[in-house]
Order: sequence, then C-alpha cells, then structure tokens
Amino acid sequence: MSTDKPTGVDTYNATIERIESVADGLSIFFIRPDAPIPGRQPGHYISIGLVEPDGEKLVRRPYSLSQSLGSGIDPDLLELLIIRVPEGDLTPLLFNQGEGDRLFVRPKMVGTYLLPELRPDMTMILASTGTGVAPHMTMLETCMKTCKQIVMMECVRYGAELAYAGQIREFQKTHPNLAYISLITREGSPKRYIQDYFRDGILENEHGVTITPETTHVFACGNPAMIGIPKEDRKTGELSYETPGGLVEILTSRYGLAIHKARRPGQIHFEKYW
Ligand SMILES: Cc1cc2nc3c(=O)[nH]c(=O)nc-3n(C[C@H](O)[C@H](O)[C@H](O)COP(=O)(O)OP(=O)(O)OC[C@H]3O[C@@H](n4cnc5c(N)ncnc54)[C@H](O)[C@@H]3O)c2cc1C
Repeated sequence: MSTDKPTGVDTYNATIERIESVADGLSIFFIRPDAPIPGRQPGHYISIGLVEPDGEKLVRRPYSLSQSLGSGIDPDLLELLIIRVPEGDLTPLLFNQGEGDRLFVRPKMVGTYLLPELRPDMTMILASTGTGVAPHMTMLETCMKTCKQIVMMECVRYGAELAYAGQIREFQKTHPNLAYISLITREGSPKRYIQDYFRDGILENEHGVTITPETTHVFACGNPAMIGIPKEDRKTGELSYETPGGLVEILTSRYGLAIHKARRPGQIHFEKYW
C-alpha cells in the first residue's frame, strides 16, 4: 500500500476507456495511459491511483494485468479485472468512475510472477481464486504455443464471477491440451477447493495430469489461504505453515516441488493479493 508522492489529480496520466461489468462489484477496466508503458510480460502488474474526494491524497494499489483472449488485442491498453472491496480505500472510488474518467497509472511494469523458460514437455497449472485469474489470462496464449499441457483452475464464490469462462471454453475448442476446471463455492454442491485437487490426487486420477518437479510448474494467485505461504527457517531451510493445507504445503510435501526464487529456481510460483 503506498500513499506517498505523487499526490494530486494533476498527476493523472491515463483514461478509463471502457468498463465491462462482469457481476455485481466485479468489472473489467480498460485503461489507456497517455504514453504506452513498455516492457510488458505475462504476469506483470501495475499500480493505479485515485485522489480521495476530500483531499490531496492519492490512494494507489497494485493490479495484475489481464488479457481477454482472441484477436485484436491492443498492446497499449491495460486490462484489469477488479473486485470492489466495500470497506477498502481505492476500489469504492474506482467503481464510482465512468468511461472517459482520468486516473493515475504508475508508468512501470512490475513483478516477479513471471513464466519460466517454456519447454514442449512442460505441464503448466494456473490456479487462482477470484480476480487472481487475471495474470493467468496473460500467460495462457504464450504457454499454449510451447507447453504440452495447460491446466487452468479457477475458484470463485458465484458462477457469474467467472469473468473469462466463456472465452476460455471457446479457446478450448481449438486447443485440446487446455483443461479448464472452474470451482464455485457458494452455489450448488459438492463444494471443492483448488487444494482438494492436489491433496486428494483428483488432478492425476480424474484429469490425467502428472505433477513432477521435472516437468510441472504451478502458478497460484489470489487468496493467501489457498496459497498457504510458509515461513522459511534461514539456517535449516525448513518450512513452517501458519495456514496449513495450502497449495505450497501440498506441492512441496506430496509432489516434491520447490518454491521458485530468483536465486534458486523452483516450480511453485505465487502472487498473493493481500
Ligand atoms: C501484486 C498484486 C496484484 C493485485 N491484483 C489485483 C487484481 O488483479 N484484481 C483485484 O481486484 N485486486 C488485486 N489486488 C488487490 C488490490 O491491490 C487491492 O488490495 C484491492 O483492490 C483492495 O483495495 P482497496 O483499497 O479497495 O482495499 P484495501 O484497503 O487495500 O483492502 C482491504 C481488504 O480487502 C481485501 N482484499 C484485497 N484484495 C482483494 C481481492 N482481490 N478480493 C477480495 N478481497 C480483497 C483484503 O482483506 C484487504 O485487507 C492485487 C494485489 C497485489 C499485491
């Protein structure tokens, strides 16, 4: 969270070109910066900001870039899938904005939630909760070109929140190596979470997915409870989990995958949203 300089509306350097409502309090914002922002890679995020109505304070938050599938993508347009957090500082302001309104965009692509060097023998598992599907949308077409198998897993509360499900299912028709698993927790039954698919071997047994450190990478984005980020003992390297049963714990203990770090490449990549 950053509220330091720049501060006022005079810093606004981008326009909301289009807003697509997905569900109540969930929209895709298409934002055009006055000057294109270079260096975009799948998985990057940017920061946007709005000045609070009563003052000079610019409230800024990071958002993963997203990408609708299909032809005609404008590379200079920023696509963001954003959920309104009613008690939050920025999103209630953002959801009061309309098409043509101005805002601040930090002119820099940032992040380390990036794809490894892809190989044809790879299986890429892209697992998300809520708006965490956004960075995976930017990765999908790139992975598709090279990797043997892509498994896109998405967990949301209500079916209407599956912002890109129609596009993904259409894309699947011409890309048989893409498996799409959408999970809904507050409608219908039985309730299944992303972690269940790894812990109970559902991916292997029901979907024919092989998970090995040699060929599998797992990307997990969204709710920290799904990811279950461990603390690492600096001396021994031992991991301890405040939230047990998360993906990282299952992937390390059951499948022998390792957390990816710049100095020690691994197969588990994660981006937590709060
Ligand atoms: C790298 C990164 C990328 C992000 N990308 C996205 C994105 O693509 N889309 C998006 O909607 N958000 C994304 N977020 C979260 C975003 O930055 C804000 O935290 C969020 O929009 C809430 O902002 P706020 O000022 O309204 O509320 P805040 O005051 O910042 O947050 C209040 C509380 O809201 C909850 N919260 C935050 N984000 C979410 C969320 N996405 N879903 C449910 N509850 C949430 C948390 O409990 C948080 O403590 C990202 C965060 C990070 C760190």
